[in-house]
Amino acid sequence: MPATIIDGKAFAARVRTQVAGHVTRLKQDHGITPGLAVVLVGEDPASQVYVRSKGKQTVEVGMKSVEHKLDAQTSEADLLAVIDRLNKDPEIHGILVQLPLPGHLDEDLVINSIAPEKDVDGFHISNVGLLGTGQKSMVPCTPLGCLMMLRDHHGSLSGMEAVVIGRSNIVGKPMAQLLLGDSCTVTIAHSRTKDLPEVVRRADIVVAAVGRPEMVPGDWIKPGATVIDVGINRLDAPEKGEGKTLLVGDVDYESCAAVAGAITPVPGGVGPMTIACLLANTVTACCRANSLSEPEGLTA
Ligand code: NAD
Repeated sequence: MPATIIDGKAFAARVRTQVAGHVTRLKQDHGITPGLAVVLVGEDPASQVYVRSKGKQTVEVGMKSVEHKLDAQTSEADLLAVIDRLNKDPEIHGILVQLPLPGHLDEDLVINSIAPEKDVDGFHISNVGLLGTGQKSMVPCTPLGCLMMLRDHHGSLSGMEAVVIGRSNIVGKPMAQLLLGDSCTVTIAHSRTKDLPEVVRRADIVVAAVGRPEMVPGDWIKPGATVIDVGINRLDAPEKGEGKTLLVGDVDYESCAAVAGAITPVPGGVGPMTIACLLANTVTACCRANSLSEPEGLTA
């Protein structure tokens, strides 16, 4: 039987509709408009695209969007001063500093200067600790999106064998924590893992977050397993025309889809869920800031 395609684009649209509904209620019942501030330092083209897209979607769900575009040479002190003002601004409920930052800025210092309750990326050390100890936290957007899709597809994940390939702080590690929180038996594989194919073959759930195009072939996948492909890799595609590129994931889609029970495509899988979860996190942060009950199903 062919694998079920988990449609992240459609799922993200549903999440945005849910978020928009909560925003409307917050405005009508409480006179509150959730606000998201995005800080971009420098002119990295990919970051500019992400920031534009985030701003557009924030406005589309009825929230307030604020963008701070700072010069690539901005000093750490000036950047921290901007974050400090946003931390104190009652109309701002979520703050996101677009990464990567220019080399002269200390990313850890900058991220840890965001008020943890406004850290909608979930990268602040307090949120990392809260997630790791199973307490209420802001959860990183990409793993949160993966978790939502897995829960939607399987219902309960309890007792399932999960293998996360990749141990980054923004995807691999928080993904593993979330799966553990849902009572999976979790293995984190990485570049030094011995016999990766054998490790992956025992998984009911495979999350690939490596950054290597089509690295996972179908013969690593247990028949019927669910494959979540986080990878975004751009390959040259001269056959499509000069300068054209092709987006592929970290798994070899065709061969994995032939064996898996369910799989996320690239594009149209995990990618769209990331910004949808950023909006979800902002509404959650706004509700918490105002001691209102949190929207259901939008957080871990
Ligand atoms: P990263 O470079 O920080 O981490 C990659 C991880 O992969 C490392 O922990 C490393 O140990 C592991 N790794 C490298 N080579 C390996 C190998 N041969 N075998 C096993 N493990 C190996 O990357 P990241 O930030 O976690 O991102 C991973 C991928 O996910 C990238 O393609 C990135 O573009 C994509 N990504 C997508 C989204 C989204 O919204 N869909 C968000 C974040 C990242």
